[in-house]
Amino acid sequence: MSDNPNSPNRPYPLDRTRNIGIAAHIDAGKTTLTERILFYTGMIHKIGEVHDGATTTDHMEQERERGITITSAAVTCEWVQKKNEGVVKLFEEQKQRVNIIDTPGHVDFTAEVERSLRVLDGTIVVFCGVAGVQPQTETVWRQATKYNVPRIVFVNKMDRVGADFESVVGEVRDKLGVTAVRILIPIGAEDHLKGQIDVLNKKAVVYSDDENFGSTFEVKELDAEQAAIAEEAYAEIVEAVADADDEIGEKFLMEEEISIKELKQGLRRATIANKIVPIAGGSAFKNKGVQFLVDAVVDYLPSPLEIPAAKGQDPEDGDKELIAETDDNGKFCSLAFKLWADKYVGKLVFFRVYSGTISKGDTVYNPRTRKRERIGRLIQMQADKHQEIETCYSGDIAAIVGIKNVTTGDTLCDESFDILLEPPSFPEPVIAMAVEPKTKVDQEKMSTGLGRLMEEDPTFVVKTDEETGQTIIAGMGELHLEVIIDRLRREFSVEANVGKPQIAYRETITKPAPGEGVLKKQTGGRGQYGHVVLDITPNEKGKGLTTENNVVGGAIPKEYINAVMNGVEESMTNGIIAGYPVVDVHVNVKDGSYHEVDSNENAFKMAAIFAMKDAFKKAKTILLEPIMDVEVTTPEEHQGDVMGDLNRRRGQIQEMGTKANVAIVRAKVPLSEMFGYSTDVRTISSGRASYTMEPSSFEPVPQNIVEDIIKDRGTAAVA
Ligand code: GDP
Repeated sequence: MSDNPNSPNRPYPLDRTRNIGIAAHIDAGKTTLTERILFYTGMIHKIGEVHDGATTTDHMEQERERGITITSAAVTCEWVQKKNEGVVKLFEEQKQRVNIIDTPGHVDFTAEVERSLRVLDGTIVVFCGVAGVQPQTETVWRQATKYNVPRIVFVNKMDRVGADFESVVGEVRDKLGVTAVRILIPIGAEDHLKGQIDVLNKKAVVYSDDENFGSTFEVKELDAEQAAIAEEAYAEIVEAVADADDEIGEKFLMEEEISIKELKQGLRRATIANKIVPIAGGSAFKNKGVQFLVDAVVDYLPSPLEIPAAKGQDPEDGDKELIAETDDNGKFCSLAFKLWADKYVGKLVFFRVYSGTISKGDTVYNPRTRKRERIGRLIQMQADKHQEIETCYSGDIAAIVGIKNVTTGDTLCDESFDILLEPPSFPEPVIAMAVEPKTKVDQEKMSTGLGRLMEEDPTFVVKTDEETGQTIIAGMGELHLEVIIDRLRREFSVEANVGKPQIAYRETITKPAPGEGVLKKQTGGRGQYGHVVLDITPNEKGKGLTTENNVVGGAIPKEYINAVMNGVEESMTNGIIAGYPVVDVHVNVKDGSYHEVDSNENAFKMAAIFAMKDAFKKAKTILLEPIMDVEVTTPEEHQGDVMGDLNRRRGQIQEMGTKANVAIVRAKVPLSEMFGYSTDVRTISSGRASYTMEPSSFEPVPQNIVEDIIKDRGTAAVA
């Protein structure tokens, strides 16, 4: 890194930049909190309630209706930690840039969550003060741990009946197994929520009650009861930080005095090192505690300089690791993390710059396509405004307008810095259904729309069923596909009929086998002749199709080899058991023959398809089905019923445990057995159990069930 990673022109120094996410269980209040942050940072001037359908980050209409946030928009705002008498803040009265990367809350969109976790440096995790730690937030929590993302917890909805801050703090410690320290403790609860105890400064922050236009607050002295709570929580912080941080640890041992500023800096280091999680409580809806929460984001979450440099590979040599240091003077390297079809400006590619800078008019290089593209315009999203910018600096987030050949997960870099940032890993689609436009004239519009959506979303796949000619869409879950159909209607004005959701099965082979195929037609005029001999062997799981060409002596002339390989690839899209895609096969093309006059590309392609089908027949093909990781949280008295039900669904129980009268059951269950589960699990538990589910792996289907699947195949008619 150079001595000063800041270029003189940048609007915000790197150490005053925060890229954060807000993660939450659906309904915990993420949208409301995001909106309040935008309000208090001056990005929007009026608070629009979620139930009015007027929030700012949810720009997709159906999200407004559903009240869930599906896409990760990035919003840029500015924050100044205000000076308050007797209160120490680490970055007081300095302008800070805060980029909020919106992470989706529904588990069907796990890939989106993973993708956004890669580009943010820290995150606020929102819990509901009544519901506490819910299973799905645990999933998000584990993902954040996987990517080493430092966290602050906000216990929201402290104004609701039944809200209990201490109980949620306990759950965060027990269920998530982290050292959590209380930095902002709610004063009162439910109707009597007044404000927060600022533990480190030992002050009371009391908010006014103006709900519609945001609130103001006063910093007051603690009363005796509050002082006792603050003392205890303060001692806890000192102990936790002393444990996690050497500098404070030493002072603590030597019994030296630790100033508030030093303690805050220690807490900052420990949070960034992922050793401590600060917790704050409040109510986004009632405007209580949002300002001090944003102060905490600035105080405790890292700047781009405080996270490990991004790592990538040399595209020419997969074993060679390359590093992109956060530094304006470095060579340009960035990750495209989100594509967005914007109503006004067209296609936007959101990207995070890791090193170097990029300006309007510059050319970027895409190592995946080996192509260059010119940057026409750069913009930053400031709530609902598009702010044109000249340059995007390292550690910042912006969007490119009108760039063509880019998909989610692509690296965009300087051509002389050929680097592939490790692309996020995306799970394979597990569910599919047929779609058909309501009116025939919409066919082309539908194809265009689906193509565009596929480009935006790496977990969404479109294909044509060879036998029926139907368009099949596949994705991560029923809700995922429902949202796609909705977007088709709203953004591309295509009304579509859809079939019943079907499981996306796979086929594979279990033993090596030879195959031979001949196409021979010689009835007057010019004929057709192709002849291919090959071997197939099972490949390792996940390796897909690999091929080798060992034809010698021109048995198949060179100019036809490509056609043969095309035939091999095509035969993999339609297996012989029930026409599902075939995976994980190695093909060795060995021999063949040709005819001087009658041979052509098409004849060799067909011969290869015949050879593959011949080999599949001898290779003991089997059907694979998606298996899901299912986690059910249920009151103990229903645990037995829940487990019995999962067993009937061919589930394999992996783990069970109980915590405070609540049982958690983890199981692996075939997706085909999970249709209608949300209703069933409610019935079994009198409405008290909840569950989450995510794709785990593909496993062989038991023989007795294969028969049924083959019978059902072809009945996927459009409803
Ligand atoms: P999201 O699904 O996590 O984005 O949650 P929303 O922000 O859409 O909030 C879900 C519901 O909870 C909405 O009806 C909000 O008005 C409500 N809500 C959000 N925050 C609070 C809060 O602090 N207190 C109360 N009482 N309700 C809240």
